[in-house]
Amino acid sequence: MTEQQITWPKTREQLTRMRWQHVNFGICKGVNCKKRIEWWKTIDKAWMPLEKVFETGELANSLFPHWQSCVDAQNFKKPTDEPKAVPAAAKQTEMFK
Ligand SMILES: [Zn+2]
Repeated sequence: MTEQQITWPKTREQLTRMRWQHVNFGICKGVNCKKRIEWWKTIDKAWMPLEKVFETGELANSLFPHWQSCVDAQNFKKPTDEPKAVPAAAKQTEMFK
C-alpha cells in the first residue's frame, strides 16, 4: 500500500495495524516551517514525516503526512517519490588517466 492509496488522517493505532513504525520525533527542516513532526517508517521501509494537525476534537489523535500542511511543501522532498540521485559514473576515459 503506498502513501497515495491511504486515506488520511490515520490514528497511531491504524498506522501500527498497517505495520508502520514510529521511529522518532523531529522538526521540519523547512525554513519557514520548523514544525514538530514524527518520523514513521512504512511497511516498505520508506520514511514518512507525519504530524498532528488538530490539537483538540475528534481528529486530535490523528496523523497526516506533513507535506499536506507544510508551508515549505514545495521544497519538501517526498522520501518515497524520487530515487536518490546517483552520482554520474566516471567516464571511461577518466579511468585510465
Ligand atoms: Zn514543514
